[in-house]
Amino acid sequence: MEQNNKTDSESISNYKKDLLDQTFRDSVSTISKEGNRNYVNPQKPNGKLYNLRSYFSYFYLILFFTLPFIKVEGEPIFLFNVLERKFIFFSKIFWPQDFFIFAIGFLTFIVFVILFTVGFGRIWCGWACPQTIFMEMVFRKIEFFIDGDANQQKQLKAMPWNTEKLLKRGAKIIVFFFLSFLIANFFLGYIIGIDEVGVLVKEGIFVHFGTFSALVIFTLVFFFVYYWFREQACIIVCPYGRLQGVLLDRNSILVAYDYVRGEPRGKLTDTTTEKGDCVNCHACVRVCPTGIDIRNGTQLECVNCTACIDACDEIMDHIKKPKGLIRYASENGIALKQKMTYSWRLKMYTLVLSLLLGFLAILLITRADIAARILRTPGQTYQLLADNKISNLYNIKLVNKTRKNIHLDLKLENIEGEIKQIGPVDVPKESYFQTSFFITLKNEKLKSRKTKIKIGLYENGHKMDELTAVFLGPSI
Ligand code: SF4
Ligand code: SF4
Repeated sequence: MEQNNKTDSESISNYKKDLLDQTFRDSVSTISKEGNRNYVNPQKPNGKLYNLRSYFSYFYLILFFTLPFIKVEGEPIFLFNVLERKFIFFSKIFWPQDFFIFAIGFLTFIVFVILFTVGFGRIWCGWACPQTIFMEMVFRKIEFFIDGDANQQKQLKAMPWNTEKLLKRGAKIIVFFFLSFLIANFFLGYIIGIDEVGVLVKEGIFVHFGTFSALVIFTLVFFFVYYWFREQACIIVCPYGRLQGVLLDRNSILVAYDYVRGEPRGKLTDTTTEKGDCVNCHACVRVCPTGIDIRNGTQLECVNCTACIDACDEIMDHIKKPKGLIRYASENGIALKQKMTYSWRLKMYTLVLSLLLGFLAILLITRADIAARILRTPGQTYQLLADNKISNLYNIKLVNKTRKNIHLDLKLENIEGEIKQIGPVDVPKESYFQTSFFITLKNEKLKSRKTKIKIGLYENGHKMDELTAVFLGPSI
């Protein structure tokens, strides 16, 4: 046991000595010293985790392509219509007036992501992020099918233009472009609704030129990202990867290389010195879609795709050593053999997340079906009427958040008087509505120049909301 501990600490210190040269962290793996692109041609992954990720991606893709067609009461269950400022989550419509709920929901999501990242690293990137799913599980598979594996891809790139290269490049561009166009259609479907996209197809591009332009822009962006930009989106553009440095700690579970077991690395055939389990075959590097060597430790480029785990497990199988030299593990798990602990940091995040979730639930449950605002008509003070009565003119603005038309009656709640509506308050479903009305009070009811009045909004006798306004009268 003592001997084992000694060996472990020797491995750790040797490994750390090696890692003193951390200059590779000064640049990203896909950009050369001269600033050129290091184009990554990863080898096709193969193994248990890759198969699992494939099954997961089928589920995800089915969801992505079917959700826009699923409707509840004629509305999609998800819609992010920024143009009309209408958002639907799980069939519940949100309006700009629900901004507070939106902000709390967003904050809850951020805390959830932080909690999840502190505990399980970038598991989201490898298993659920749409960029990784489309890149690795759709476009990369098509590329392997058309161009062949990594070596064949490199050969194709190096060869002069001939029939084979023309055919393969042409096929790849056509298929990638068609898929980008398809994804752009559905992406747009999540923004304006899939029916609207259908209308564009039926009525032609000239009638809906704005929608068509958006479709073209999305298609070109997707094509650019999946054909050329690729892993750069995760490394350079996505801010989540860069947050790792502050979110991860020594207990976070990540795709990690067990340097205690693996070092000192060396060829299997080299029996002159005592070696660790890593045979320095570079299989883990060859499959990495971001072109890094996981044996250098946690790096911002790693999207936790697990391809290196599968590659190394295959090698371990081959050389009859236990699998898991690269595996999901924490730094403390590897260096100190500690099991994952529920740290104070995790506990605090959990507490904040629970509070936010509770608050969000209350906001959602108590959310009113209508939002209303009453303002005195600008430029008007009060009118003196016969019988010693005074009237004020008001504007009311309403939002109907439901899927049914609502007719409202206005009633004075805290003072005796009369409301004269200019027209009926009929608020169409999922719409804004505005009208004006007079409130007339007897002068003797007023106790000061400004009187606070309460107005109830009723639908079929059921009180929907109560608003306050100020009634102006002559000085007393
Ligand atoms: S290091 Fe491993 S898990 Fe990370 S991106 Fe590369 S292959 Fe995927
Ligand atoms: S695949 Fe495994 S054995 Fe080969 S270099 Fe990577 S860590 Fe070492």
